[in-house]
Amino acid sequence: KISLNPLKRINRDIYTYAENKQREIQELKRMETFRREFIADVSHELKTPIFAAQGFVHTLLDGAVEDKKVRTKFLKKAAKSLDGLDLLVHDLLTISQMETGEIKMHFENFDIAALTKEVIDQLEGKAEKRRITVTLEGKNEQHFVKGDYQRIYQVMMNLVSNAIKYTRKEGEVSIYFEERNNEVTTFVKDNGRGIPPKDLKRIFERFYRVEKSRSKEKGGTGLGLAIVKHIMEGHDSSVNVESEVDVGSIFSFKLKKGKPVAHRFAEEEDEE
Ligand code: ADP
Repeated sequence: KISLNPLKRINRDIYTYAENKQREIQELKRMETFRREFIADVSHELKTPIFAAQGFVHTLLDGAVEDKKVRTKFLKKAAKSLDGLDLLVHDLLTISQMETGEIKMHFENFDIAALTKEVIDQLEGKAEKRRITVTLEGKNEQHFVKGDYQRIYQVMMNLVSNAIKYTRKEGEVSIYFEERNNEVTTFVKDNGRGIPPKDLKRIFERFYRVEKSRSKEKGGTGLGLAIVKHIMEGHDSSVNVESEVDVGSIFSFKLKKGKPVAHRFAEEEDEE
């Protein structure tokens, strides 16, 4: 009398093996599609500034431009395209390093309100140009979090500069914090043009822009929010957005509460 049990087990093992292999193949296919699309997107994005710079430089080389003022204007435009290209390549490198896990997070305790003050200082010129008020609520409060300082700085920089870019002139941007249980949530709010519901889910994809030409005009790389998403994932967290067209947007992200520490740079400054 033969017991069927061992056969059943073998059958089940073969089935599981086949299922796993199929899953692996699907994952490889998904990565291949991703890689192909990424290369296509990147080539397309690189072409725009290269094409523009090329046009200006060749026109100048052809010698058709007599007027010195026009010549300078052309050179300035070529330089602007090349600066855009530089930014794009930098962001691409960051994103590819994040996707391959080459960038490791360095966690430490810091005061996110102090970090925000530095970001606001750095963006002051941009905000003034568009006469936008940037307010940090609860100015003297401290909110200690645990995270990668440099990366969270990058997140804040992206969110606040977007808020400034996509808000109407003389608009208002405010940043505030909420502490609950073991978490600190940071909110970046603007009263700008807002984002239509159909685009809301997609703005974190690389190169996705609402109103492509209008957003491109603003000079971004279209990678800012994709980088933000990656950084927050590296913190086992996510970035959220609520938005209403013509009313404004609120971007928010959560971090774990951190231990109180002296200001990051205070130590160096205090050293004799
Ligand atoms: P970009 O470099 O184009 O700013 P991002 O990845 O930072 O790229 O943002 C993607 C798109 O999301 C932007 O092009 C813009 O259309 C939209 N967006 C981002 N932030 C805001 C905001 N605060 N208000 C309205 N639209 C926004």
